[in-house]
Amino acid sequence: MKVSILFIPIFLVPCLFAQSQVKIIDMHVHSYTDSDFGEREPASDYYGNKGSKNAEIHRQETVAAFKKWNIVKAMVSGNPQSVENWVTKDSNQRIIRGILMFAPSDYGIDSVKFEQLVKDKKIEVFGEIAPYYSGTTLSDSAWQPYLRICEKYDIPVAVHTGGGDPGGTYSWSPKARLRLGDPYLIEDVLVKYPKLRIYLMHAGGEDWPEHAIRLMAYYPQLYTDLAVMLWVEPNTQRYIKEFLRNAKEAGYLDRVMFGSDQMVWPYAIEKSVRFLNSLTFLTKKDKEDIFYNNAAKFLRIKN
Ligand SMILES: [Zn+2]
Repeated sequence: MKVSILFIPIFLVPCLFAQSQVKIIDMHVHSYTDSDFGEREPASDYYGNKGSKNAEIHRQETVAAFKKWNIVKAMVSGNPQSVENWVTKDSNQRIIRGILMFAPSDYGIDSVKFEQLVKDKKIEVFGEIAPYYSGTTLSDSAWQPYLRICEKYDIPVAVHTGGGDPGGTYSWSPKARLRLGDPYLIEDVLVKYPKLRIYLMHAGGEDWPEHAIRLMAYYPQLYTDLAVMLWVEPNTQRYIKEFLRNAKEAGYLDRVMFGSDQMVWPYAIEKSVRFLNSLTFLTKKDKEDIFYNNAAKFLRIKN
């Protein structure tokens, strides 16, 4: 009898675990096609882990992590073809369609084409928008027609803040500069488009967590995600832990959203969830809010 009792939990472990993980909305997931898979990322991450073998395996491994960790919605950004491919294979309506853009003219898009994409519901979130990598900021004139359309159609904006990949400036993003990741550089956008739904990605990174908090204080409509900070290096984990502690103390935790930013490493989703769960200064309610409720509020998802 005792032996069989010992056996049962082994089989039930995956089910019990899935039940114990609260629902998650991942506000920061990346998709690829083979044309850009691994083009911007190093062969191995900080810990020596290699990325997925190719774009399709990467998609499958990411979806497996969605299932394992009770991720019910995911804001997916990548080149338009990759996002479309993920949506086509998304039997659970998990995917929220984003678009990854570094420069306002990426993929040959202009404001006319963009408005059509929005009308056709091909873009549900304008992001990840990462002007940082093209040497621009979201406040620059070239981005304004897009933001006007986002405000008009109530399309949320997701903007990269903080730095980029070490070495990127010497390879794929020669115009990237650390100073361009300062959240204060989007302040003019917040002033010009007060109705715009917008969130910072990476909470100001290692460089400006305090600017992220100050901006959230000054502009109560502003949200942030946590993203790559949760997993990519012990140093970013150190910063984000401090950010969360400070955001909690300041009373702005109700605008902080989970994001994994897995890039080519789908295992990072699990690593991010586990890291957030391990933070003992956050209550069960704090974690439920960060994992699901805050994003549901931001995205206006009912239930
Ligand atoms: Zn990202």
